[in-house]
Amino acid sequence: MKAVILEAPGVLSLGSVAVPSVDPGDILVKVEAATTCGTDLKAYRRGHPQIPMPGVFGHEYSGTVVAAGEGAKFNVGDAVMGVHSAPCGDCFWCRRGQENLCESIMSSKVLGSFAEYLFVPKRIVEKNVYSKPDNVSFEIASLLEPYSCVAQAVREMQLGLGTPKGLHEGLRVLVIGPGAIGLLFVAALKQIGVDHVTLAGRNPSRLAVGKQFGAETVSVNELKPEGFGYDVVVECTGQVEVWEKSIDYVRRGGTLVLFGGCAGGTRASFDTKRVHYDQISILSPFHFGTQAVKQARQWILESNADLSLLLSGERSLEEVESTFKDLEAGTGIKYVIRP
Ligand SMILES: [Zn+2]
Ligand SMILES: [Zn+2]
Repeated sequence: MKAVILEAPGVLSLGSVAVPSVDPGDILVKVEAATTCGTDLKAYRRGHPQIPMPGVFGHEYSGTVVAAGEGAKFNVGDAVMGVHSAPCGDCFWCRRGQENLCESIMSSKVLGSFAEYLFVPKRIVEKNVYSKPDNVSFEIASLLEPYSCVAQAVREMQLGLGTPKGLHEGLRVLVIGPGAIGLLFVAALKQIGVDHVTLAGRNPSRLAVGKQFGAETVSVNELKPEGFGYDVVVECTGQVEVWEKSIDYVRRGGTLVLFGGCAGGTRASFDTKRVHYDQISILSPFHFGTQAVKQARQWILESNADLSLLLSGERSLEEVESTFKDLEAGTGIKYVIRP
């Protein structure tokens, strides 16, 4: 089968690899849609600790089951939407309800959705793959993985907000960075009833999508630290300077969510007065557990927002390299790869 290989930073090739066979509980999915992700772009640009090179590339997907191992949760012909990882359920972190930090969640994940077929092992099939209803398109279903990251963050925010009511009505949230993740935050926060969501960024066409999702929008240049501040600020750029700046927009007693992962080895510094005397809570959620995936699927099924606005076009496997060049140049939000 054809599969896109990330050979080295900036180098992609279209290779031919053996079609994997299934053991009991596993499934083989014919990829119908595989969306590009900011993590893929990071790996393409500079390498990524969680994405081995050379290796098969892509992790967001939806598709049709073409082979199912004995006792598998799905049958041949089923349309499915899933993510590429699942917690073990038994390690230190899983037992404490921090499935997203499971010690083997990364080592047991699958990559390679920019390919004709994707092998999904039993552990992931059982915990984090779901049937795809007919009224959800394959390309929207492929958004389950990034939306799960957002759902995990929203979950942590609800637990850690420091206000008894959690993410209640009347809350004012600032999202910084109008990439796919920032826009999914807007969609999720509006969906759960947060009244005031402001999206800050530079790219006017992306901000326009945020507006359609129900956010007020502001250019980062006009964002001022003065005033009362926001109850919650969600940083979605993964840039150290923005991490450091983000705290300026949080109100006393508010919460800063540092969502965008920065390059390894970088350091950020904050005014200790703001963190302590202004009692600003800092959350930095990573990845997702099973509850977040379930929540994200529900949001997709019941979405008020037109999530197709996040999709900038459809490309073939042959066009993956040019697609990443476009993404690198800032053209488009997410692309759908159709093998
Ligand atoms: Zn992703
Ligand atoms: Zn675990």
